Amino acid sequence: MHKEKLIFHFSGRNAPCIAKDMRCPNCGCPDSKVIDSRPVEEGNSIRRRRECLACQKRFTTFEVLESVQILVVKKDGSKELFDRSKMLSGIMKACQKRPVNGEEIAAEIEAELQNNLVQEITSRDLGEMIMVKLKQRDDVAYVRFASVYREFKDLDTFLAELKELKDSNNRKEAE
Ligand SMILES: [Zn+2]
Repeated sequence: MHKEKLIFHFSGRNAPCIAKDMRCPNCGCPDSKVIDSRPVEEGNSIRRRRECLACQKRFTTFEVLESVQILVVKKDGSKELFDRSKMLSGIMKACQKRPVNGEEIAAEIEAELQNNLVQEITSRDLGEMIMVKLKQRDDVAYVRFASVYREFKDLDTFLAELKELKDSNNRKEAE
């Protein structure tokens, strides 16, 4: 299934119309820069303020994703469909016997990807997102996940990561 992005243009007094791309409604130039972006409440859509690079006219697009298929770009460059259960199983492994709700982390990440209308994410970035959330919740789960994910090559790298974690915890306590 291909994900189609519908784009609504609001320009001046014109009624919003559905556009196939982000062309400037004034001069038709396809290039614009985004000045401001914010997700619209219901998720799955985003409002963007744009400025045409050719005529500098500003316009607003309201982008709606009809279906939510996210592609994950793997290290070797190949792409596969984002698989929630696969992500969850990786998180659950790290959270084994730890007081961490892996389902909640997976749901949060999925919601963030959808709210930001992400269509493609590298497996690396996805892993980083998971690590940030684990780190906020539980050191052990975080280190477990990071050790698999970052493929610590030797004990020194692993210990360095642990030390950094410990230092940042100490800093938190000192604050
Ligand atoms: Zn223009």
